Amino acid sequence: NLEVRFPIRLKKLFRTELQELRAVDGVSFDIRRGETVGLVGESGSGKTTVGRAILRAIDPTAGEVTFHCCDRDVDLAELEGESLREFRKNMNMVFSEGSHSLATMTSDMLRAFRPRMNLVFQDPYSSLNPRMTVRDIIAEPLIASGMMKSRAKIDERVREIAARCKLNLEHLRRFPHAFSGGQRQRICIARALVTRPDFVVCDESVSALDVSIQAEIVNLLKDLQDEMGVAFLFIAHDLSVVAQMSHRVAVMYVGKFVEYAPTASLFFHPRHPYTHALLSAVPHADPDAAFDPIRLVGEIPNPLDVPSGCRFHTRCPFAVEACRRETPEWREIAADHFVSCHRADELDFSRPAGTASRA
Ligand code: SF4
Repeated sequence: NLEVRFPIRLKKLFRTELQELRAVDGVSFDIRRGETVGLVGESGSGKTTVGRAILRAIDPTAGEVTFHCCDRDVDLAELEGESLREFRKNMNMVFSEGSHSLATMTSDMLRAFRPRMNLVFQDPYSSLNPRMTVRDIIAEPLIASGMMKSRAKIDERVREIAARCKLNLEHLRRFPHAFSGGQRQRICIARALVTRPDFVVCDESVSALDVSIQAEIVNLLKDLQDEMGVAFLFIAHDLSVVAQMSHRVAVMYVGKFVEYAPTASLFFHPRHPYTHALLSAVPHADPDAAFDPIRLVGEIPNPLDVPSGCRFHTRCPFAVEACRRETPEWREIAADHFVSCHRADELDFSRPAGTASRA
């Protein structure tokens, strides 16, 4: 009877003696059970920082990550001390919240919470221990969280999730070096899902793979989601992969969301020039369904020196004087479709037909 619902509001600053880098500057969104939220943007936009801050692999400077669980809300951003160390140990879950601070939680409660979240990394080569067999790699979260103790039960669960990830008994006896990139990513997914988590961050998890293997991994993740109801935050820079995988998509630029919408709404009717620029760069089989190309000038700004007004004004072909002075408000421009642009009402980037998407 767990429900995943993450209202998330985050800020992450990296401070040096002289400067302050706003890696994530007040993003706010929610993820529901069984849903995938895609997070796209160029390198340096802050996508990975968002994923890591939710899982407390890094500390958010401010904000809340509210996890609704067992009829109450708990704030992951409040974790500290021993509870945070415990949490980080396995990249699994420990909670702390008002009347349910760690001190008041029994060890049974902690064990029940811990395996609820996990992470699939980009690099399937460096994220697997070369000295462990595939069986031991997949079993590790079950053992580390104390979720299962009996070897027979652990083996049964490992075989079950391995089979779902197209890994057979012979594969389980081998070491990671014997596998291709796609097979290694399936091992990473089996490890991330063996505890039946409610929420998994996939951080560029298919970016290093060939296109045909990418499709195979995306289909596997979708099948597992349909079976298990797991929620994904799917971080990627490839918009076509995000479209296949996600129910809703957020577009990030220099630490802020500039657009957030259901996948079909964002891909067919983008309202922000930056989203339009990213979409117009994706090759399309049907030239009539492709967006008019829009060329961005210049580079993504240095997050140590964020432009005034709209952060995108230094590269936006539609910028007007107000864009340089005033920060555009974050507003709902259509049902569940949010955007931050002064000119969103007058700019129409819709296309007649288009990209296959999950929505
Ligand atoms: Fe471009 Fe102005 Fe909209 Fe920013 S607010 S995206 S600069 S038109």
